[in-house]
Formats: sequence, structure tokens, C-alpha cells
Amino acid sequence: ARQFFVGGNYKMNGTTESITSIIDTLNKAELPANVEVVIAPPAPYLALAVAQNKQKTVEVSAQNVYTKTSGAFTGEISPDQVKDLGATWTLTGHSERRTIFKESDEFIAEKTKFALERGLSVIFCIGETLEERKSGITLEVCARQLDALSKIVSDWTHVVVAYEPVWAIGTGLAATSDDAQDTHKQIRAHLAKTIGEKQASEVRILYGGSANGKNAPDFKDKADVDGFLVGGASLKPLEFIDIVKSRL
Ligand code: 13P
Repeated sequence: ARQFFVGGNYKMNGTTESITSIIDTLNKAELPANVEVVIAPPAPYLALAVAQNKQKTVEVSAQNVYTKTSGAFTGEISPDQVKDLGATWTLTGHSERRTIFKESDEFIAEKTKFALERGLSVIFCIGETLEERKSGITLEVCARQLDALSKIVSDWTHVVVAYEPVWAIGTGLAATSDDAQDTHKQIRAHLAKTIGEKQASEVRILYGGSANGKNAPDFKDKADVDGFLVGGASLKPLEFIDIVKSRL
């Protein structure tokens, strides 16, 4: 069975004070032993988050990495540096990286491959825009984003896929649990063709986009929804904990 997984993406939010307070609240909670939790604060706070986290089931993630170990790449962060700070995960391919920073499918696949090679686990984000959904090409878009990675990475053991429809991110308009299940199922079926039945049956597929404490339980009985990648609600630790406990 796939272990339930909840990620918190803080995006470019937080201060020493607010991140300390969020982690303090997580530390005081009784978190279920069988839920994997990953929090992704902004890079300047990775070391702080690693140092303050006392929960065994919580790990720390970067939000982005580059495709090199070190060198003249001003402003970039290497997977080795992320690991050096004690973080064990990174996100790649977030829709904000794709749209605002114009990262291509190929570049995202490259950085995912490199992060895996350097020993990080990766939350690989995919998802369609509203226009793409309206045109009925949701699966084609997701398949294209996934194929860029499956072409160059065959071992997906340390990959978690996050399906985040762009129209649901930060809008308060989450996908319905039926719609999410439908897309997740198709994503898994597509992966069965590219990375094999076994790996496709083992890879976690998270839903992201306006997930919150209220709607998380709606996804409880959705067979292909293996967790959430939470943005806004991850900054509210009590609500985030509700999401972590939403499968109990
Ligand atoms: P929101 O939960 O704020 O919609 O953000 C989702 C997201 O982008 C997580 O990566």
C-alpha cells in the first residue's frame, strides 16, 4: 500500500519568527506514525527548519534546485547544498516555476534527474492550465510533463508526483475529489505504460490546489489520491495538521 503523504509548500512566505512558530506547533502535535510529512520552507530557512523539527515523520524540502553541484551559477542552489543543510527533498516543476520563470519540461526533468542522482527525493509537480483543461487536453499535458522525466529517469522509487491543476492553485477552487481521482487514475495508467506497471502502482500521486482542512476528508476514499501538496493552508499549522490527519 502507498503511504499517505502530505507536503507543505510555503512558497516565498515566512520569516524566522513565523517559521519557528509553525514548526513549534507541528512539534507539539501528535502526528500519525503512518503519514509521511514534508515541509518546504524558502531556502534561507532550510537550516532553521531542519534544526527545529523534532518530529520523526516530518522531513524538510527545498522548493527548487539547479542542475549542478557548484560553480558560477549566481542565485542558484545545488542539491548538495540542500543535503548539506539536512534537508532530504526538493520540489521540481511547480507551476509557478513553469509559468513565471519559464522553466521547460526538459529543464525540469534535468533538475529532477540531477537531484535524484545527488540523493534527494523529489516531489515532481505537474498540471494543466485552465485553457488546457477547457480544450480537453488535461491528460496530454500531464503526459508530456511526465514523459520528459520518464525519458531520462527509469527508477522512480524516490519520486512523488504532485498533480496540481493550475486553475486550482491559490484560487480557493479545489478540484472535486471525483475530478482529482479521475485524473490521478489516468496519470497512473499513463505511467504504467512508461515506467512499468509495478512502479506506477507504487508511486504516490498527490493532489494540490486549494487543499485545506475542510475539503481534505472528501478525498479519503479516492483510491489514486495518495496525499496532498498544500500551499496556503500549510502556513496555518493547525489546519495543516488536520490535513495530515485527514485519513485517520
Ligand atoms: P494552494 O494550496 O495555496 O492552492 O497552493 C497549492 C500549491 O501550489 C502547492 O504547491
